[in-house]
Amino acid sequence: MTFLALDIGGTKLAVRAVKAGRTWERIEPWPRDGVESDLALLRDVLTALPSDVVRAGVSAAPTVDSEGHVTAWPSRPSWCGLDLRRTIEETVGAPVLFGDDGTLAAVAEAEVTGCADLVYLGLGTGVGGGVVSDGRLIRGAWGNAGELGHLPMDPAGPPCRCGRAGCLQALLSPEALSRRTGLSPKELAASGQVAAFVADVLARVVVLLSELVQPSRVHLGGGFGVALPGLPARVEERSLAWSRRGHRLPAVATAVFGAHASLAGAMVLARTGETGLRQSRSA
Ligand SMILES: [Zn+2]
Repeated sequence: MTFLALDIGGTKLAVRAVKAGRTWERIEPWPRDGVESDLALLRDVLTALPSDVVRAGVSAAPTVDSEGHVTAWPSRPSWCGLDLRRTIEETVGAPVLFGDDGTLAAVAEAEVTGCADLVYLGLGTGVGGGVVSDGRLIRGAWGNAGELGHLPMDPAGPPCRCGRAGCLQALLSPEALSRRTGLSPKELAASGQVAAFVADVLARVVVLLSELVQPSRVHLGGGFGVALPGLPARVEERSLAWSRRGHRLPAVATAVFGAHASLAGAMVLARTGETGLRQSRSA
């Protein structure tokens, strides 16, 4: 009996299979050459894994219509119009559950820490996040709350892929930072100035979230988020400058699962069949 987790990111495909306590894992760069070559790579990766998959959890961030067809997926435009569930289920050969990458990462981080009030912020190709409050994942009225990458931060800011201007993602994605600074993606992670700018923006987000849902922990993940040296300490330090007297701020830390929190969340989805975690309150 094998449980399978897939994390379909903007530039990589991460796959983990767990069977009787044994774990297989592959993380492959996933060029955007079109849906056929994307699926060929997925099939290739799956051939090296146990085939008795009972359920798969998939972390991805497309917009789908009520029929399950992809209507928008900025990082995989060639998948638009595709019946996502059917396509992945046929490829994997088992029932598939989908979750937003940031949401699943929040679930995984809350589960592993036992923290009932945790916010996850992932800085990767884009910016994503999820909010666990009072032991429950915040889903909102229409099921997609916690899209922290689209927090409107600056109406005069650069355009976001969603069509609005000044979203958190439009300020902090590596692509946006490269445009702003002229640095290559590799140079970005080594730049103290970039780290300071990212920390300043995230500190505002931490304070904003603090006023709204009062998390006790904020975990930073995503490939870019974990590559910026000392980011959690910088964010925590800068958020203090925004604190109100007598109000505690959350501890800011690197995600326990580092850049792979979404994959860990996809495995929670595969294993349990749901993301409705219940945690006892924690300080
Ligand atoms: Zn946006």
